[in-house]
Formats: sequence, structure tokens, C-alpha cells
Amino acid sequence: MLPPASVIRLAGEQRELPYKAPYAGMIPSARKAAIMGDHWQQASQRQPGGQSPETPHGSRIDPYVGQYAERARGMVASEIRALFAVTARPEIVSLAGGSPYVTALPLDAVGEMFGQLVAGRGSAALQYCTAQGDAGLREKICEVMSLEGIRAHPDDVVVTVGSQQALDLITRIFIDPGDVVLAEAPSYVGALGAFAAYQADVVHVPMDDQGLIPEALGEAIAAAGAAGRRVKFLYTVPNFQNPAGVTLAAGRRHAILDICRAAGLLVIEDNPYGLLGFEGEPMRALRADDPQGVVYLGSFSKTFAPGLRVGWAAAPPAVRDKLVLAAESAVLCHSSFAQMAVREYLGTQGWREQIKDFRELYRRRRDAALEALSAQMPDGCEWTRPAGGFYVWLKLPDGINAKAMLPRAVSSRVAYVPGTGFYADGSGAGHIRLSYCFPEPERIREGIRRLASVIETEMELRDTFGTDAIPRGTGVDTPGPGDL
Ligand code: PMP
Repeated sequence: MLPPASVIRLAGEQRELPYKAPYAGMIPSARKAAIMGDHWQQASQRQPGGQSPETPHGSRIDPYVGQYAERARGMVASEIRALFAVTARPEIVSLAGGSPYVTALPLDAVGEMFGQLVAGRGSAALQYCTAQGDAGLREKICEVMSLEGIRAHPDDVVVTVGSQQALDLITRIFIDPGDVVLAEAPSYVGALGAFAAYQADVVHVPMDDQGLIPEALGEAIAAAGAAGRRVKFLYTVPNFQNPAGVTLAAGRRHAILDICRAAGLLVIEDNPYGLLGFEGEPMRALRADDPQGVVYLGSFSKTFAPGLRVGWAAAPPAVRDKLVLAAESAVLCHSSFAQMAVREYLGTQGWREQIKDFRELYRRRRDAALEALSAQMPDGCEWTRPAGGFYVWLKLPDGINAKAMLPRAVSSRVAYVPGTGFYADGSGAGHIRLSYCFPEPERIREGIRRLASVIETEMELRDTFGTDAIPRGTGVDTPGPGDL
């Protein structure tokens, strides 16, 4: 059976975009029957020792559907992910992806540096290294962390494949299926993906515009304890949070640490945006005040280049040892070339100046986004005002569903990530995340103008026919790397 192709018609354009999501457009029961039918047909035609001759290369039909581990069950791409494939088209303003603006880097100088690295020290740069990571880079990482008040020794640091791998490793060493992870509501989609992969049960803790609410954290810990649940750690993004754009107030930081210490709870402080504040000095890290109780995750993805995939974890010694062993079994060691390239960059390329430039660039884009939101958004919308980082979190007027609205937004040539991606329990349909990091300010303004008009149309629909007229999105989203 061939998957039907649906079509996205772009407003103001003559062309139609074929959008091929397998089984898209079918009602759920028909879709299930089609999938099962394909699966049955596939299995019955498979020949011993080889693939079915009818199986086209790259077919998404899965003959092993019944054989995956329990933990792989939740690993499904959402319909939204298929929609995002079209958002890369130039006519669409994507406010969805969280990709940093790497074009602002001195690419020629960086390229020259890479070349010299291979020519001069290729025998080390192209060789394996230790699982803990390049010692020289770990020294530099301690220098970077000192900007946020952290006094660390290179031995405390494990270099990882982006901070995403650190999230995976932390979850791998701490979580048994059913263990509770406390996380902000909403929370970073990539972390939720890692937690789901190890079958953690995420309990969301409310935030306000000052970040995580200490009293709510205390209540969540008490409620989990009363229910006999094992809480393993608190996961928090304290600065310019992804997706909400809010920052944990200085006055709350000690309270959060005290609550976690009293409960014997480890804190995972995920801080890829901490140096990208628009106002004043970087905030003091949680780890600066409790190195025994906090694992700090850092990344060069936002301050240098995500393509190199260099992040790190700074952890108490016992946790560090487990992380090194887990990293070894996952990847043997990180890329020596990438690590030495970052070390070289930090040693020779004026990285502090570059971060200043990035801050200025993102501040201008944040300003463009906030000005456009104030000028364009209809009554009933509310949004956060980030003091750094990449994201604005927008609350839609009552009765408007972010996931249901997305295809109509894309056909109006603007894309965002629906709030449902940032909750483990499928809530968040009343919110959207807008990223201002990648498009030029003019495009941001245009995107927000288009979005405002889509929201207004949804409101008219709602007012005329009631909320039942607005189709509901279903399930939890799994956005891809470009959406993180
Ligand atoms: N944590 C947060 C909060 C993020 O926003 C991201 C990337 N979007 C990551 C971790 C992962 O970043 P990387 O793996 O590129 O270091």
C-alpha cells in the first residue's frame, strides 16, 4: 500500500508542496490498519536470509516492529516532525529551530586553524583519546566555567558529544524505569527525549517569570515521597530557559539548592545559554555554591559551533567516574579532532570577543521579536521577555490549539514549535515556542506578522464555531535536532 501524499498549499504562492508523511491524512484507526497491513504483507513476503524483493530501498515499513525493547516504544517521530521538513524552504520564516547563527563566526580564520591543526598535530588530532576527554580542553573548560563563579579542577570534567550526550549519560547512570525526574514545566525537549528513552517518569514543577518556584519544588518532592516514588534528580535550565526564556532569580537559587540538599536530591544544571545574557554579567551558577550537589552541563554549541558537538559535564568525583565509564561504553572516546579544535579556538581566537558579538546579535533579534509581538499580537496573547538566549514562550488566547494551528501557520509561511513538545505529559497545547536566534530581524518581524494573522483567523473560527471547530492535536511531539 502506498502512503497517501497530502499537499500543503502556500498562501500567496501558485505552487503546491507535496508533503509525504506515511499514512498522513488517515483517521487513526485507518492509519493503524494500514500500518499493520503493510507490516503483515512485508513479513509474509520476506525471504529467508534477505530482504523482500518488493521492499523499496529506504522503506519505512518495519519487519521488526514487535521486537524492539520496551524503552524504544516511546521513540516515535510525530506528524509535526514531517511538517518541519517543509519549514526549511526559503519562503517560510522558521521561528521553530534553535540553531545558532554560526555564519557570524570568523569562518576563514577558523578554517585555517583547523587545517593547521591537522597539518601540525594530526597524529594526535586524528587518533583516539581518553573517554574523559582531552586534558588541555578540560583545563580551558574550567576557565570558561569560572565566568559563572565555578571553581573546578580539570579532573572534575568529562567532555561529551554535546551536552545532549551528557544528558543521556546522566540518565543512563541514574534512572531505572519508573524513577521520577523533576523538571521545569515546560522543559527542554531533548532532555525529555533522553528521560523517556530510559523510561523515567517526568514530574513537571511550575515556573513563573522568576524561574522554578521553590515552594512548588518542595511540594513536588513531598508528594513523590508520600506516594513512595523514587526521585532521582532535579533537571533545570536556570538561564534563559529553553523553551520559556525565563531565568531563575538570584534570590531563588539558594532556596532551590537548600531544598534539594535537604531531600538528598542531585541537581542537574543544564546551562548552554548562560554566557549569552543581554544585560550585565553572567549569573552565578548553581554549581558554584554546591559542587557536591550539582552536576553542571555546559556546551560550546551556542558560543562556538554545534557542528563540532563538544559539550561537558562537571560532576562530583563519584558521579564523574560513572560518567567516564558510561561514555566509554557509548563512544569509546569523543572526537580528538573536535576537542583539539575547540581547545585551539579557545587558545587562539578571541572567544570572549566572539561571545560579546553573539550577545549583541541575539539581543537585536530578541528586540525585533519583542517589538513585533507588541505591535502585532492580538489581545489574549501573552509572552515572556527573555534577558538572554534564544527563545520566547508565547501563550495563545484561550481555546486556540498550537498543534492544530501549525499546518495553517506553515501554509501561511511561518513555523514555530507547539508547546506540547516541552511537556512529558502532552500538555502545553496553549503555548508555542518562538526562536529568534536564526532569522535576520526583518524576517523575524515578517514571521511574527504572519503568525499574528494566523492566530487572528483561529480566534475568528473559535468565536464563530466554538473550540470544537478547532481540531485537536494528539500525542506527545518528538521534534528533531533542528527544532531543539
Ligand atoms: N540543553 C539545552 C537546554 C539546549 O537548548 C540544548 C540545545 N538546544 C542542549 C542541551 C543540547 O545542546 P548540545 O548537545 O548541542 O550541546
